[in-house]
Amino acid sequence: MAPARDEGHRRPTDEVAATLREVWRDVLRRDPDQPQFRGAVREVLGSIGPVLAEHPELAEVLGRLCEPERQVVFRVPWVDDAGRARVNRGFRVQFSSALGPYKGGLRFVPGLTLDVVKFLGFEQVFKNALTGQDLGGGKGGADFAAKDASPGEVMRFCQSYATELAAHVGSWTDVPAGDMGVGPREVGWMLGQYRRLVGHDDPGALTGKPAALGGSALRPEATGYGVVYFLARMLAEQGRDLDGARVVVSGSGNVALHAMDKLVAAGATVVGCSDSRGSVAEPGGVDVEALRETKDGGGSVADYAEGRADASTSSGSVFTQECDVALPCATQNEIGPEEARRLVENGCWAVVEGANGPVTPAARTILREGKVGFGPGKAANAGGVAVSALEMQQAAGREQWSAEEVDDRLGTIMAEVHDRARDAGERYFDDPADYEHGANAAAFRRVAEAVERLGVV
Ligand code: GLU
Repeated sequence: MAPARDEGHRRPTDEVAATLREVWRDVLRRDPDQPQFRGAVREVLGSIGPVLAEHPELAEVLGRLCEPERQVVFRVPWVDDAGRARVNRGFRVQFSSALGPYKGGLRFVPGLTLDVVKFLGFEQVFKNALTGQDLGGGKGGADFAAKDASPGEVMRFCQSYATELAAHVGSWTDVPAGDMGVGPREVGWMLGQYRRLVGHDDPGALTGKPAALGGSALRPEATGYGVVYFLARMLAEQGRDLDGARVVVSGSGNVALHAMDKLVAAGATVVGCSDSRGSVAEPGGVDVEALRETKDGGGSVADYAEGRADASTSSGSVFTQECDVALPCATQNEIGPEEARRLVENGCWAVVEGANGPVTPAARTILREGKVGFGPGKAANAGGVAVSALEMQQAAGREQWSAEEVDDRLGTIMAEVHDRARDAGERYFDDPADYEHGANAAAFRRVAEAVERLGVV
């Protein structure tokens, strides 16, 4: 496959281009049934031509980077409240340990497949590299409907899942955290089972822990806050700011709600929100506290909108609404060509990914052609894993940092993530606003150098 946008001196040699094609053929041959993973690989391969033109010696690591170091797929048996034996499928994909212990979240959602876990694990390798922290990349989870289970069922499930996980994790080996369907409560239950099995404490083996077990201040807020820090820096490059900006945010989970808090604090108005059941338009501004209360009580965004004079509900996408900025913070593939076209028509300034892979490749092309700024999740949502790295540091040093201290460090890390992507965009693609290719190029360079120095292992 031909690397994108690599003209002139930025074209890799024929030999390097042949290696790229070979790696791509191997990915297709080995996993023809993994379209999400394939998409993630294609995107990175399409961004690194200019890096390989400068450093042809890095081409030989590509094969190793595209094949996970280890993939664990396991049975998770548990007993439901009715006394019935149930079985789910668990995953942990340890993608790369070149820069440090495998690091990445666990996702408990129905329908989770190895394809999705590999896609997320591959993304995580590059995201973690961009943070500048010493973290490898991995991802895991299970096809378990955590949302529909009782607390007792979730605890038994977590214990069964952690029984297998215990063999693979540890503060210097693999450090899982939360993701969709897994929050501090679930991480605490998994840590409990893990400790019981290994017979000693290892607080750095999991992050996103409850505060009572050494979880970092601001870890729950970190991804959402980080998205807005990234966005603010990106807008500053455009000569804009968030004061008075109209923003739509999809999703009403952890990332979305904390991003909304920061948006409002920066003077923006959240004019639209959504959940998996529908969307709400509220031109006067969503009341984030009221929305949080409704969601915490098990309600939907439609329940929140009921009785609010200014709010209207719809079963369609929140991204067809007029806005200056769009933050997709729900899940993968939520902005397709149709939504992207509407965002361009509506004069949107920037789309920044709070979720992993919410904007499809075709939609990204439309945004680029429509001159809408694009902040890829790999860079923009790296705040969560960055504060996980700070949680690991606190565990290792037996320290607890204040929220101010963590926020300060998060702000610095997000500024650095932004600047790494911008600088690589400028250097390799003559476009500092090309964060998409810039993020891939900068991250690839860091990981590939480490892989190369480690030798063929
Ligand atoms: N699940 C988050 C992500 O997608 C955080 C991972 C972590 O903290 O290890 O980046």
